[in-house]
Amino acid sequence: MLRPFVPMVFCTSCAQQQDDAQKFCRFCGERLPGPALMQQLRDEAANIQATKTGQASQTQQANLATLKAIELARQQGFNGQS
Ligand SMILES: [Zn+2]
Repeated sequence: MLRPFVPMVFCTSCAQQQDDAQKFCRFCGERLPGPALMQQLRDEAANIQATKTGQASQTQQANLATLKAIELARQQGFNGQS
């Protein structure tokens, strides 16, 4: 990240990007979620992101462990043959 988090919200009606502070869409006039709701949504998104990252690293660790086990089995197999 080259710059701090830039608040972003999209209109639920026309999907145009909005400024956080706005209460109504400047394109279609649809009511936009307030800062408190946006903060809540961001916290949830951050939690989901953290969970996804954790799952990804766990999967990678599992894959690495599987690879090691395969390598070990191959080495033992080769040793047993010779
Ligand atoms: Zn809109």
